[in-house]
Order: sequence, then structure tokens, then C-alpha cells
Amino acid sequence: MSTNVVDPSRDYALQLDEKDELASFQNEFYLKEDWIYLDGNSLGLLSKRAETALLEILNSWKQLGIDGWTEGKHPWFYLSEQLGEMSAPLVGAKSEEVVVTGSTTINLHQLVSTFYKPEGKRTKILADSLTFPSDIYALQSQVKLKGYDPEEHLIQVKSRDGRIVEEEDIIAAMTDEVALIMLPGVMYRSGQVLDMKRLTEEAHKRNIVIGFDLCHSIGAIPHSLSDWEVDFAFWCNYKHLNGGPGGVAGLYVNEKHFGKNPGLAGWFSSNKQKQFDMEHQLTPANNAGAFQIGTPHMLSVAPLIGSLEIFKEAGMERIREKSLRITRYFMDLINYELKDYNFTIGNPLEDDRRGGHIYLEHKEAARICKALKANSIVPDFRNPNGIRLAPVALYNSYEDVWKAVQILKRIMEEEQYKQFENKRGVVA
Ligand SMILES: *Cc1c(COP(=O)(O)O)cnc(C)c1O
Repeated sequence: MSTNVVDPSRDYALQLDEKDELASFQNEFYLKEDWIYLDGNSLGLLSKRAETALLEILNSWKQLGIDGWTEGKHPWFYLSEQLGEMSAPLVGAKSEEVVVTGSTTINLHQLVSTFYKPEGKRTKILADSLTFPSDIYALQSQVKLKGYDPEEHLIQVKSRDGRIVEEEDIIAAMTDEVALIMLPGVMYRSGQVLDMKRLTEEAHKRNIVIGFDLCHSIGAIPHSLSDWEVDFAFWCNYKHLNGGPGGVAGLYVNEKHFGKNPGLAGWFSSNKQKQFDMEHQLTPANNAGAFQIGTPHMLSVAPLIGSLEIFKEAGMERIREKSLRITRYFMDLINYELKDYNFTIGNPLEDDRRGGHIYLEHKEAARICKALKANSIVPDFRNPNGIRLAPVALYNSYEDVWKAVQILKRIMEEEQYKQFENKRGVVA
């Protein structure tokens, strides 16, 4: 591992914290003394504002009953669209192009069933071999629903090194048999950022529809989906966006597709003025709202109201700037302090190619993660040998990173990890 010049002292970490413009946001979150949470890329922490928003929604139910749909602090009937508007800057889209609805996997099904229109020779879906399993299961089932065999009709671009998928290899696979492309914005393991702009241009040159799964990129990096003319995208709100476990997800559809019928329709796909006409002929909303299905999950979406306010105040550019700085600092310290312990940094090193987390590989990764947890540091383990560490711009400090590396070094020096089995837990 190469070693950058780094000041390994705690004082230096404290100096960086002093200069951190986002430091005050740490008070917005429920953090515990001596607990270093580096897993915001799996489940973001609860903020006080998210908690308040949830209590406000509960209160409208308590006070208003059915009238909560149209009255109270956050009338439920319009909330999915309003939250879409609040999310739009995070993905670089117009307000009407975004709606908060469903779950990641449901939204994937919705959008692929809308945009996957096999015709003539163009019958295949192009994805990658490092994608999150749920996405692949969903794509396999979409291919099967059209009567095709996923073995042949779902192409997964290979990785050369098991960590990164090269854009060139994806472009080379964009043949005239491909009807639709679906890729992650940021890889869930290695944290690689895919060049969404370039891939969209190349797909469109070949008349292929392209969409992205932004689960690991929303809230971690800025996007310009509208400018890039990405056809569709979807994401969860419980990772970097701190919307709460199982919280409602989001989707984006480029305005050029407005008016398309949703592949999976329901009464919430309706034009809102017409929804309660109760006709059997659907008039879909003329915006991303058309891709909703049923009644929105109010109690699961509520925390996002508070959470998105925080993002608005902090600003995505500042969040990315700190994230790049703090992850760089983390890598420098790892290179400096842990050079004797056979770790490999598996995420891309270039700023424009890495997302919000670090991917540290080690053959004892599973039990090193257990030892970290026993020391009140929360990483997450990804099969077979990965430790994901996300220093989150809104609530982690440089001192957190400094402490985490010191503790990791002690775990290695003292071989503390040997007290644990090198096997993953049920939820890892
Ligand atoms: C987290 C994640 C999911 C999870 O999907 P759910 O429907 O929310 O369970 C899917 N895809 C990717 C890439 C993810 O990172």
C-alpha cells in the first residue's frame, strides 16, 4: 500500500474537526458517547428532526383521523409528491420527475415493467455482475415475465478484478440486442462510482433505455439526472438519507416519459384530481407520480420529512466535499497505521470514482468486524472478505475516524479478533 504523508496525531484530527463546516449537524442526531457509528451506508442514524416529523404524522392521525389526508401539518394525500420535490435536488432532477413511494425493489419492478419493451432483436437486459442480489432477482423475474430465459436474456457485465466494473466493458456490451440497461450509481461493495453521464450518452447513441439504482449514491454524491437525460432511477431512503429502517423509497422518471402508462398500475398512479372519481379507466398522473401504486405508507415515510430538511440546510456539495476529505483522511491513516496487517483498500482511490464508504479487505474480515463491534465501533461486513466503513459527513467527526483506526490497530496488534469465529452473522 502506498503511504501518503499524513499527520497521525489526535491533535491533527481535532484541528480538522475545528475547521469542519458541517460539525454542528452532529447535534441533530442521536449519537451515543463512545460509540462510533460507521454504518450509515447500510442504515443511517435517527435525527431529532426525523423523530419530530414522525410524531407530527402520528399526531395528525390522533387528532384528525381520516381528515389527516387533507389537513394537519403534512397532509398525507400530497406528501409523496412533496417529498419528491424535496428529494429532487439530491438527484439533480425537476420536482415533477421525482416521487417518494414504494421500496427499492418494488420501484425497480415498477420501472423495469414500464420501460422494458422487448421488440424484434432487442430483447435483453444489461446489468453488471457485482450488483446487489435483490436487483438481479427482480431483473430475472422481469425477464421471465416476458417469457424469456434469464440465462440468455439477462447479461451481466463481468468485473476484471472483482471490485470494479469498467465503463468501457459496459459500453462494449451495449449491443443491438439490448433493450434496457440497469446499473448502480455506486457499487454497494467497492463503493465505485459509475460514470452515469457517459453511460447514459452511450446507451442513448444506441437507442437503449437506461436506469440507475441510486441506493448507495443518493445522499453520498451529487447527481444531475435531468441534465444527463437518464431515463429512470430509484433508491432507498434509509441508507445515506437517514429515513429509518424500511422507510419509503424514491424514484425518478425523466419528463420526456411523462404520460407513459405505469407497468404496474394502481389507484395512486392517478391524476390526483381524478383519483376519487373512482372510474375503472385509469388517468395516470402526468409526472413521476404515475409510478406510485397504492396508499402511501405514512408512518414509514414520516421521518424523511425531517431528514430531507437537514440535507437541504447542509447542501449536497458541502456533504460531498467533507465526505471526500474524511474518507481520504481515513485511507491515509489506514495506510500509515495498519501497514503491517495485510489490509487492502478495495475501493477506487480516485476522488471521482469513489462513493461515501471505504471498502477494506482482509481474510479475517468477518471476525475483525465482530471485534470492532465489541469495541463499540459499528462497521459492516460484506461477504467474503470486506469491511465497509462509512464516515458520514453529517454525523461523523475526524476524531471518530482517528479513534476507529487506533482501535483497529489495537485489535490487530493484540489479535483480539481471534476470540471470534470468522463467520458472518445472519444480518451482516
Ligand atoms: C440497499 C439496497 C437494496 C435494498 O432494496 P429494498 O427493496 O429496500 O430491500 C437494493 N439494491 C441496492 C443496490 C441496495 O444497496
